[in-house]
Amino acid sequence: MPGFELIGEEERAAVNEVFDNGGALFRYGFDFMRNGSFKVVEFEKDFAKHVGLNHGQAVTSGTTALWAINRALGVGPGDEVITQAFTFVATVEAIKETGATPVVTEVDKSLNMDPADLERKITDKTKAIWVVHMLGGPARMNEILEIGNRHGIPVLEDTAEAIGAKYAGKPCGALGFASAFSFDFGKTLTAGEGGMALTNDESFYLKLRAYADHGHEDNPEFPRGEDSATMNGFNLRMMELQGAIGLAQLKKMPDALGQLASNRDRLRASLEEVSELIEFRETPENGIDSGDSLIFYLPTREDREAVTNELASKGVGFKLLPGAVKWHFAGQWDHIWDEVPHYQGQNYLELWPNTYNLLQRSIAIPIMIKMTDEQIDGIAEKIKAALSHLPGRN
Ligand SMILES: *Cc1c(COP(=O)(O)O)cnc(C)c1O
Repeated sequence: MPGFELIGEEERAAVNEVFDNGGALFRYGFDFMRNGSFKVVEFEKDFAKHVGLNHGQAVTSGTTALWAINRALGVGPGDEVITQAFTFVATVEAIKETGATPVVTEVDKSLNMDPADLERKITDKTKAIWVVHMLGGPARMNEILEIGNRHGIPVLEDTAEAIGAKYAGKPCGALGFASAFSFDFGKTLTAGEGGMALTNDESFYLKLRAYADHGHEDNPEFPRGEDSATMNGFNLRMMELQGAIGLAQLKKMPDALGQLASNRDRLRASLEEVSELIEFRETPENGIDSGDSLIFYLPTREDREAVTNELASKGVGFKLLPGAVKWHFAGQWDHIWDEVPHYQGQNYLELWPNTYNLLQRSIAIPIMIKMTDEQIDGIAEKIKAALSHLPGRN
């Protein structure tokens, strides 16, 4: 998955270039000291193009990209916004922090939003739907977009974990009304921290841009200090060094994503030999996962525990599943639901039983860009050995 594997001379040179051009670290203005260098602006243009969209607004994080999109849509108190029970906590925080009510669906075997449950959870208060493409796997966008369109509700994509994933020939993040990406240090493209909100809708983009900069319209008719404003905003500005690093990483994406996909294919082909013992995560028809990780289910939680115990003892690592669900499964967020009247006081762990069951039975093997064939084959052999040790499987 991670861009941190790629951090090297190119990123260092990109940072030096900012200083060589005069050291303007702020994305706006300071024309007298920047020698025409606008790294954040360039990153916005190139990243949007990479995803096949017209407009990108760089912000401080994936979380603030989600939040800015909600705010620019006018999400607020009295609204409901739907997302899924398996996601990073940020998706829900970004709804809650607008004053709206997060409403959470089950995931299905794609480990993403279950369209049938989405349909059940729509009310006349539903203002938006946040699909999350978890761990590099596309959600069932056909069904979800159809539901959104039928109800006139915008579908938004949390694409923080899915740069490089595709659906129906388009990149994930280019399917809904707007999308949010993260460049934190665990993501496939990293700038250390940072995020981007993307959309094809120009007037929506102008709202995002203003919201991310205290309402500034960046009006060329005025100096910054006299800039015009039509809406309130906040400070979510990305700095030039992040833009420079992001650009350096973006250039590495085609090779990195190609390597991830081929490493994933090699591991998957080897595990196909034991496909009667495991069930692979479902990828919707027309979907291609990014190769972030390879995920499979065991028949029961006990089987999964036996396998992960053995794998851990042999030094095999996991990605989120099963270990790190505390921050990725809604049933464990007492600290959030205690403050949300819609869920307050219920038995949170039992609110999303299908999701809980799937997560308990899942194993996610992280795919690294720099894995060697020997390392991949070694992991596959350890997985097969652990499966063969399950009671009644030899
Ligand atoms: C990482 C992540 C975020 C938040 O991104 P940050 O840049 O860390 O704020 C949001 N949603 C998902 C699904 C993520 O994995």
